[in-house]
Amino acid sequence: MENTRCFANRFSDYKGALLPGQGAEAAVPVVVASIDKILQTVPIDLSDCDGGLYDGPAGVAYMLYHVSEFPLFSEYRDVYLKTAKQIIDMSVRYVDAEPDKNMRAAFLLGGAGIYAVAAMIYKSLGLADFVKPLTKFRNLWEVCAPIHFLECGSDELFVGRAGYLCSALVLKQKLGIEILSKDQIKSICQAIIESGKQYARKKRKPFPLMYSYYGTEYLGKNHQLRATFSALVIKRKRPLRVEVTFTSTEFIMLLSYQDMLSGAEKDLVWQSVDFLMNQEQNCNWPAELGAIIERENELVHWCHGAPGVAYLFAKAYLINKKPQYLDKCIRSGELVWQKGLLKKGPGICHGVAGSAYVFLLLYRLTGNSKYIYRAQRFAEFLFTEEFKAGSRSVTRIYSLFEGLSGTVCFLVDLLQPDQSEFPLFSVFV
Ligand SMILES: [Zn+2]
Repeated sequence: MENTRCFANRFSDYKGALLPGQGAEAAVPVVVASIDKILQTVPIDLSDCDGGLYDGPAGVAYMLYHVSEFPLFSEYRDVYLKTAKQIIDMSVRYVDAEPDKNMRAAFLLGGAGIYAVAAMIYKSLGLADFVKPLTKFRNLWEVCAPIHFLECGSDELFVGRAGYLCSALVLKQKLGIEILSKDQIKSICQAIIESGKQYARKKRKPFPLMYSYYGTEYLGKNHQLRATFSALVIKRKRPLRVEVTFTSTEFIMLLSYQDMLSGAEKDLVWQSVDFLMNQEQNCNWPAELGAIIERENELVHWCHGAPGVAYLFAKAYLINKKPQYLDKCIRSGELVWQKGLLKKGPGICHGVAGSAYVFLLLYRLTGNSKYIYRAQRFAEFLFTEEFKAGSRSVTRIYSLFEGLSGTVCFLVDLLQPDQSEFPLFSVFV
């Protein structure tokens, strides 16, 4: 039976040699051409700035910034950064005018992420102005500190507290600045923990921390939130597709800031990580707690399943080097090799580049060139007729998460795998 979600992987596996045709000489022109294509479609009107970093123009600004940081693209640096600044300035104006403060505090769908990326681009251009968006970012702390600041669930990556912490982490990494005070970080972490405890208690769960979104349990990111959150924000009634996702972003963020946690809080987080670890079914994790995964058409996406959950175990492994965590990452990678040539486009959220990022993660964890080879094969596949003919078209081709901008980040990272990481979501900080 044909798998409706992914193409069959007919590539032979690694036999000791990388692909010869994928060096900088071949890849740089491909990246430059892809960026040209993106810039032809990205909106330049203030009224088209919605979607945040996820699939608004701001994501393109981030991609341009990312590419401009690589020495291989030094001849394009000035023009890419200049364009990035134009786009992010417009995005900043757009979120400054956003009346809903919760939306301004959102990472991937709203203002917090845009302010963070603006600061990075300004800093890269040597502009002293970079402190302005940083101040706006810091002021959002007050919005997301209250335990139930969003009715629909306050802790996740796209719009909630994990996202706010994630953007603080990105700033720390890129600018070398801890933008929030220790007390601010602590209070956000404590709110995530308290909210997880309350929910687990209320629902009589057999494990310590659990999160809900719209009354639905999940343990991490879910791009359906985008639809539901916009619906919430613009008060438009539309059918809400609430899917249960079983991933782990809240825990990644708590582990990233574990120095801010008490001993008892750390214990709770590690217990939860191990609980999650034990939910594995044949190298994957169910979208719904306790659900049985159907092997035929299982979800293998960054936003649903092993390619996303793997980052939690990578983070855990980087902290304490316990082999069982690395083993979970490796098992995830095996499933992605089999089922990761996705038909939902080229992107990083639920597309081929998102799958391939798992191989780059595994390369950084293990140093095994097999994973670079696998990432190269996935990159190669993106340019085949089979992929073009058989993959679903993307609404916003410039999107960082669903379109080509994330793909460009991946192609660039593949040229320097030692520094590769999923865009705006690093476990190596
Ligand atoms: Zn997705």
